[in-house]
Amino acid sequence: MNDRLQRFMLRGAPVRGEIVSLDASWLEIANRHDLAPPVRDCLGELSAAALLLAASLKFDGALVLQIHGDGPVSLLVVECDASGTYRATVKLRDEQPLLNDPGLHALVNQHGQGRFVVTLDPRTNSPNRQPYQGIVPFEGNTVAQVLERYMQRSEQVPTRLWLAADGRRCAGLLLQRLPDEGGTATAGDTDAWARMQMLADTLTREELLNLPSEGVLKRLFWQEPLHDFDRRACRFACSCSRDKVASMLRMLGTPEIESILAEKGSVDVRCEFCNEPYRFDAVDCATLFREGVSPTADHRNQ
Ligand SMILES: [Zn+2]
Repeated sequence: MNDRLQRFMLRGAPVRGEIVSLDASWLEIANRHDLAPPVRDCLGELSAAALLLAASLKFDGALVLQIHGDGPVSLLVVECDASGTYRATVKLRDEQPLLNDPGLHALVNQHGQGRFVVTLDPRTNSPNRQPYQGIVPFEGNTVAQVLERYMQRSEQVPTRLWLAADGRRCAGLLLQRLPDEGGTATAGDTDAWARMQMLADTLTREELLNLPSEGVLKRLFWQEPLHDFDRRACRFACSCSRDKVASMLRMLGTPEIESILAEKGSVDVRCEFCNEPYRFDAVDCATLFREGVSPTADHRNQ
């Protein structure tokens, strides 16, 4: 099946929707990390949700969803953009065993210290555009519930999400109530928002994971006049590079790098998202700092 996101509108009513299903791209992520099923599924749901939200926000840049956990999972991250490119990773606390079938709460908010952070990074050359970051209270025991609360509080757009993931696939459905601009076209269908939610609430996890997107829409909304379909492909891509790792090593500073070199003979960094290894030997490290120092400072140091 294809990895893609599809958007649709409900004719004559201020309701829009999106449906996403991720197969090959999700397998690339799931296979790169050896995760227990509850953690993997949580990351999959967050991935589907990130792509749905990125496509619904009128925003040019990267959307980053992060859950900082106080339980067995210390961090879940998904980064994506409106073009459908995404990457995702998890950090675990090794010492904490997983309970049987833990919910989101047991994974990341055991002591009430879990934080959910939404970042919109404009990725523009304009120096004045700062990233927006919002910290969301942890309300709800599923990724969908937490994000629904976020959309209600921050964007003030009534939004519902249905998400599911397993080892093969992750998928999600989003419904959003648009501001009613008082147009005559929308006057006739006043219960559309309630009706669409009620229909979508009948969707099972198995259907979301096993039916193609068109099948889900047909099963739920076969009597509804959906239109304006727009499809986009989704794919996994990592933005890591040797240059980015080099900048990070420069920030660590010479003493730290020299101490790692003395101990291990090289500095080895592995990308947390795609597992790509980057090795800097003694010669690479020396070049790193020569490149990083401006000629004036270099001269002063001699
Ligand atoms: Zn990478």
